[in-house]
Amino acid sequence: MYDKVRFIEKGGEKQIEIKVVARRNSQAICSCCSRSAPRYDRLKERRFEFIPLWGYRVFLVYLMRRVQCSGCGIKVEEVPWARGKRELTDTYMQFLAYWAKKLSWQEVAVSFRTSWKKVFQAVEYIVQWGLRHRDLSGITAIGVDEIAWHKGHKYLTMVYQIDAGATRLIWMGKDRTVKTLLRFFRFFGRPRSQGIQYVCSDMWKPYIKVIKKKTVEALHILDRFHIVAKFNKAIDEVRALEYRQMKTEGYEPLLKHSRWCLLKRRERLAEKQEAKLSDLLRYNLRSVRAYLLKEDFNQLWEYVSPAWADKFLNRWTTRAMRSKIGPIKKVAKMVRRHQPLILNWFKAKKAFSSGVVEGLNNKAKVTTRNSYGFRTYHGVEIALYHALGNLPTPPMSHKFC
Ligand SMILES: [Zn+2]
Repeated sequence: MYDKVRFIEKGGEKQIEIKVVARRNSQAICSCCSRSAPRYDRLKERRFEFIPLWGYRVFLVYLMRRVQCSGCGIKVEEVPWARGKRELTDTYMQFLAYWAKKLSWQEVAVSFRTSWKKVFQAVEYIVQWGLRHRDLSGITAIGVDEIAWHKGHKYLTMVYQIDAGATRLIWMGKDRTVKTLLRFFRFFGRPRSQGIQYVCSDMWKPYIKVIKKKTVEALHILDRFHIVAKFNKAIDEVRALEYRQMKTEGYEPLLKHSRWCLLKRRERLAEKQEAKLSDLLRYNLRSVRAYLLKEDFNQLWEYVSPAWADKFLNRWTTRAMRSKIGPIKKVAKMVRRHQPLILNWFKAKKAFSSGVVEGLNNKAKVTTRNSYGFRTYHGVEIALYHALGNLPTPPMSHKFC
């Protein structure tokens, strides 16, 4: 029961204090087994922080009791507004975690006059609750990708659900090895893994290996985004080499400022870039030939039938191999090696484009980049599940949105 409410002065700060008392003759509840038990004695008063009001911090003050439980012995009682030794009430933790999705954790701490550490504790509690109570049934499509972490020195493997209308982070693990992804499948379990029909990933060998082994029935789709990225890298290489070569041989610097004209899709070029490109196309440069091969490859995505896409790939790779341009030949070999997986994209009727995994992964990158303060893996894990896990929250009488 709520008793007296009053303003107090503490450490130069005005606070609101709400006294809470147990109903007379009420039995306390054992925090160990959640059964009611006779009272043993009283402990010191404890303060539990509640949602701030009008800019004042609010505390519930309660004299904790101990119980003499027949099963567990002498234990501290369980209270309905907080767990264990926590100083924050469940409601306040949910409140902080809610805002920590919209603002940086530091901003939340400042806005509600609390510390970064307490915001972390709140998010951690909500995430752990969410992970325990989430439903992982009915997942038929997953995307596997990686993000760099620790200033790019380390990697995290991310597994997303990418079913239509249900996208979220379902698992993450350290590194990007065979062992990492095997750990996911061990966690996910065999019955659920058998329900997976589509897997979308990049060309990272360890992933391909594990996916092949663990999702035999599923259609494995290579992510379009990652194929395009390989092209861009190849074009960059060709251009940089040719630029240097022309310079040392004393030619006009034709390729100066040409990087984006050659990388961007033609329809997205700005007027000035388009002019530069038209100019370049008049020369028989390796960079230009590589560019034309890349542009040509884009037609692939317009195909509907896997058989015709297959024919196109055969023609394209033959031409690319004859181009005598090293980096482009490398791409062609890569395409040949993964041709069946690329074609799966058409078999899946383009249902799972790179967009979904790309979008989730970008959000993950932003979260880790803004992760000022998350030095440990545990911290990053909590932040990522909070931002991307779409986790359920504990039932509350109050909604914050
Ligand atoms: Zn007990």
